[in-house]
Amino acid sequence: MNLNMDVKYIKGVGPVRAELLDKELGIKTVGDLLYHFPYRYIDRTEVHRISELVEDMPYVQLKGQIFDITSEGEGRKKRLRATFSDGSGWVDLIWFNQIKFVEKNLKCNKTYLLLGKPAMWNGRFSIAHPEMDDAEKVNAMDGTLQALYHTTDRMKKSALGSKQMQDIISAALEMDKTPLQEVLPQQILMEHDLMPLDQAIRVLHRPTSANLLAQATNRMKFEELFFLQLSLLQSAKSQAEKNAGLKCERIGKYFNDFFHTYLPFPLTEAQKRVVREIRSDMRGPYQMNRLLQGDVGSGKTIVALLTCLIAIDNGYQATIMAPTEILAEQHYASILPLVEGLGLRVELLTGNVKGKQRKQILDDLKGGSLDILIGTHALIEPTVVFKNLGIAIIDEQHRFGVKQRAMLWSKNVHPPHILVMTATPIPRTLAMTVYGDLDVSIIDELPPGRKPITTLHYHELDRPKLYDGIRYQLQMGVQVYFVYPLIAESEKIDLKNLEEGFVNLEAAFPEYQIGKVHGKMLPAEKDAVMQDFKQGKYHILVSTTVIEVGVNVPNAAVMVVENAERFGLSQLHQLRGRVGRGENKSYCILMTKNKLAENTQKRIAVMTETQDGFVIAEEDMKLRGPGDIDGTQQSGLPINLKIAHLVRDVGVMEKARECAKKILQLDSNHTLPANAVMWKHLKEMKKESNFSEIS
Ligand code: ADP
Ligand code: MG
Repeated sequence: MNLNMDVKYIKGVGPVRAELLDKELGIKTVGDLLYHFPYRYIDRTEVHRISELVEDMPYVQLKGQIFDITSEGEGRKKRLRATFSDGSGWVDLIWFNQIKFVEKNLKCNKTYLLLGKPAMWNGRFSIAHPEMDDAEKVNAMDGTLQALYHTTDRMKKSALGSKQMQDIISAALEMDKTPLQEVLPQQILMEHDLMPLDQAIRVLHRPTSANLLAQATNRMKFEELFFLQLSLLQSAKSQAEKNAGLKCERIGKYFNDFFHTYLPFPLTEAQKRVVREIRSDMRGPYQMNRLLQGDVGSGKTIVALLTCLIAIDNGYQATIMAPTEILAEQHYASILPLVEGLGLRVELLTGNVKGKQRKQILDDLKGGSLDILIGTHALIEPTVVFKNLGIAIIDEQHRFGVKQRAMLWSKNVHPPHILVMTATPIPRTLAMTVYGDLDVSIIDELPPGRKPITTLHYHELDRPKLYDGIRYQLQMGVQVYFVYPLIAESEKIDLKNLEEGFVNLEAAFPEYQIGKVHGKMLPAEKDAVMQDFKQGKYHILVSTTVIEVGVNVPNAAVMVVENAERFGLSQLHQLRGRVGRGENKSYCILMTKNKLAENTQKRIAVMTETQDGFVIAEEDMKLRGPGDIDGTQQSGLPINLKIAHLVRDVGVMEKARECAKKILQLDSNHTLPANAVMWKHLKEMKKESNFSEIS
């Protein structure tokens, strides 16, 4: 089959429809068309009764007759309305477009099999633009699964809906029966028991059984994810080969002394595993580029310090970069006492460090008498010159971009090893994919002795009960956070909510001091309020999400999240990590309006049921799609995914990744004849997605 043929030559398409397909869906060739997969299938054997319809149903089939067709309105407002019944009840059918055509073809007293999405309107169900088939003809159709295709409003207006897409694709498949050329090597098809491409494409568009459809879907998902992984692994490999590593083979005095004498607690198993992974990277021939994920409080700092010590043992300097001054100061304050006994020199460099002090630090850094430099992005400035930087550690990756990472590289003639740390939990396979060029380590275990946080869901109606609880906590001397959402598009309204909440709280708790922070305040003002809260000058802190990641106020054991329905799950999880840090039993109370959509109800339930950041991240992505993760769009990948889903198809992804790894090992020079078509296909796919690699 000639996949490069223009779609206009397909029977039933022509130049006008071809232009529409191109403009609306980017479909130019037969190949594009065949890779426009159905988004779902309707089981045409399942027919509902009208009396069974309830609100929020997806597409349903009804079988019955039309009684009475009327047209309403004039000109562009004109619409056609018909009454449809199967004997158990009535629904209204409505058409806004293609009225003449429908009017001419619809007949009363004929039995139709109708397909459409019912909506409740004035106490009665109505279906707009149903697909109407002669019931007898449908019974004679082979296969019972009907494919549904995405189309756009403009296409529907021009009578190019799902049904017509199906007809066009069928015509294309009929036109040329020579099989599509296989793009996966035979070896892979056999090993993974995959359906050949030609069959899979035909089955996907015209399934004859659910079983075959499942096999075809699996095959296409595998294909997509395989090419995605092949592409990612290939760039990671060429990247690594470009950058030979600074060999850190020695485990010496500093690491060992610290480990045996100064380590303040035994490492968790997860911390030990991660340190081993880092050691083995730094000892190897290539530059380390590793992402370290660990939930809030999982103990990433000590891992960072051990990593610094490995570099120092091998004669190099180390640096740790944090996204804010508060966090940089916190790192400095926790690391300084740990390494003092080792005789190492640690300094803090932020925008606040000026004059003589700054000059001294910069001189010592250049001279080599400074071992560890901790700071903010002030570290990137050209005036900051290391004598011999061996490792750069970046905390809270989601606030720094790839660019900043690259700038740290240039701090040594030889790029230093890089460790990126993040508390944003992302499932491992997804991380492998969105941070394609980074290896991933995970701390999936919290240090022992952590007290769980009780998370409760309260509705607006429960507010009196909430205030009673808060009053009790305040009397016990516990401090409380009230967090409000702040979303850029409606900042003014959000801020008003926060101000109103502040006034209400002042009225409800007149005997207590209440502080307020939000993003419109200057950093210094914010810092001052945070410090006052930390010192107990305020009992309640009203804030937007500006409460910094990682900031520690152990006496604040209660957090109330207002309008919790407006937060993402991962964000709620991060916020919740602010409490549960001290002696008191901790609570997180999620306030929502009284009536919630089903999906929202589910999301809140995830929060009350688990405290595991990875479970939450996965649920979040299942409910919202991975597009929201870390601002990384599914569409930002080197291969556009049309059928596979980064989260739901994790199992297939893992197999595809292993398979791609093997291919890269066995055929690193792209010379095996069996893989020729595969390499060519990879090239074409990469071109299509306009992915520009960052190097
Ligand atoms: P995060 O991963 O959020 O940066 P931190 O490194 O700040 O977490 O660690 C959180 C707290 O847990 C710190 O007070 C740290 O001292 C403590 N901690 C870390 N690892 C352990 C451990 N293995 N056993 C006991 N406490 C630990
Ligand atoms: Mg941290």
